[in-house]
Amino acid sequence: MSGLAGESGSNPNYPSVGIIGGGLAGLAAACALADARYKVTLFEQRSCLGGRASSFAHPGTGELIDNCQHVLLGCCTNLRNFYHRLGVEGKVRWYKRITFIEPGGRSSYIEPSFLPAPFHTGFSFARFKLLSLKDKLGIVRALLSLLGRVPEDSSDDFLSWLRRTGQTQAAIDRFWAPVLISSLNEELDKSSVKYAAFVFREAFLKSAEAGMMGIPTAPLSELYGVAAEYIRARGGEVLLRSGVDAVSLDDRTARVRSNDREYSFDYVISAIPHHALRSILPQGPESEELQRKVSHLQTVPITGIHLWFDREITALEHASLLDRNIQWMFQKSKILTRLAGQNGASGSYLELLVSSSKNLLKMSRAEIIDLAVKELTEFFPTVREARLVNATVVKEVRATFAPAPLSDRFRLSPLSPWPRLFLSGDWTATGWPSTMEGAIRAGYLAAEALSRAAGHSHRFIVPDLEPRGLMRFLTP
Ligand SMILES: Cc1cc2nc3c(=O)[nH]c(=O)nc-3n(C[C@H](O)[C@H](O)[C@H](O)COP(=O)(O)OP(=O)(O)OC[C@H]3O[C@@H](n4cnc5c(N)ncnc54)[C@H](O)[C@@H]3O)c2cc1C
Repeated sequence: MSGLAGESGSNPNYPSVGIIGGGLAGLAAACALADARYKVTLFEQRSCLGGRASSFAHPGTGELIDNCQHVLLGCCTNLRNFYHRLGVEGKVRWYKRITFIEPGGRSSYIEPSFLPAPFHTGFSFARFKLLSLKDKLGIVRALLSLLGRVPEDSSDDFLSWLRRTGQTQAAIDRFWAPVLISSLNEELDKSSVKYAAFVFREAFLKSAEAGMMGIPTAPLSELYGVAAEYIRARGGEVLLRSGVDAVSLDDRTARVRSNDREYSFDYVISAIPHHALRSILPQGPESEELQRKVSHLQTVPITGIHLWFDREITALEHASLLDRNIQWMFQKSKILTRLAGQNGASGSYLELLVSSSKNLLKMSRAEIIDLAVKELTEFFPTVREARLVNATVVKEVRATFAPAPLSDRFRLSPLSPWPRLFLSGDWTATGWPSTMEGAIRAGYLAAEALSRAAGHSHRFIVPDLEPRGLMRFLTP
């Protein structure tokens, strides 16, 4: 493979690496290795980078829209490191306040104060109008029991755990479910206690910074597309529309077949989803065993509903919507830098999110739009007067893998049965749920494993945020 050698390019003494998949895991591995002067070639089957976190041109308007709104949290240290690496950290806006709205329009919010962690959101929680005192006391009791170590993965599901800790139905419906279903993309009765505890501990109890919500102010493809230039500037290659059909491995080389051409590398990283591995892995007992394991990982859908109205229907940039199918509202025309300022007179663009949207899969696009507009009217009565100018629905059937009890048994390490092949992707054993942070960690972990195999031992993973306040004494 061609590549510039020299200060800004790859080191001729370093191995060559083929990376399959231009989602966040593949990009993280490729950027980290290219920066460490490995000779990198990235293969992506689609015409753009970003994988599940990408954008497409809306067929009706030509407007670039995200396949789905993606948010991050302050505790996503490796994702933030990746943004810094690419120079796009300024394209994320951070929010401390999360507004919750009930049907009818009554709202309340949670935000941090000067109180030390884990009590930093205590004031707003005490004033939170959408839960009773009894609901809140139960929540506090349960949160306190999550302060210690995150439990090991077990067969316990989080709903059973909540019931055992005596949670009221309102606390489950209006606190635990909204936070967890949007973080884990799975129902409480199908989520492991480990991952649920992880979310609350890492994001909400550890520090105010850890719980901040970050929202990209640019389309996802713009955010992640710059990775191609980053890799090329370091002597690497990015091959789009280059699906890989097969990988073959022996003691000395790893070969990749794409577009009827064979490429030879010292090492290969597969960064494709677990359900796609079958299409590229060499046949044989090791491959069968690996695929048998990952076939236990289930996937869960997410549906995004994009609505364009002729006017503004709320001043809020985002809100969690309670007790209905639609769970989040993001006002993209206020969030996206290139649209902000055109809001109001020129209308507004909203994206509504339904995580774990199994019940919407069978519904038609028109039925989903009707349902979404009807429900939106319950939260924002102005919708009644507004004219819906355009609408589209994006169903991502295999959006994330399910954080089911005992699912850790099926998440694999970057080391594969073949010494020249490494595994990556959000589904590998990162300790994180299926998220952008999980994918970046997976990319960095695979790159580190490869570097160790090549005798260099580069480090790419960055540490977690330090706990703050009293959490410093409560963290094992
Ligand atoms: C609708 C939706 C909403 C989400 N919301 C959030 C959110 O708010 N916050 C968050 O943190 N996470 C969110 N996620 C999860 C996040 O997007 C994923 O965890 C992450 O992007 C996964 O990255 P990945 O690189 O592991 O996999 P992918 O993004 O799936 O990347 C794999 C890449 O490999 C390519 N590929 C596959 N087979 C081949 C082949 N044979 N040859 C070459 N290329 C191949 C694919 O085209 C793809 O580009 C959401 C996901 C979805 C779908």
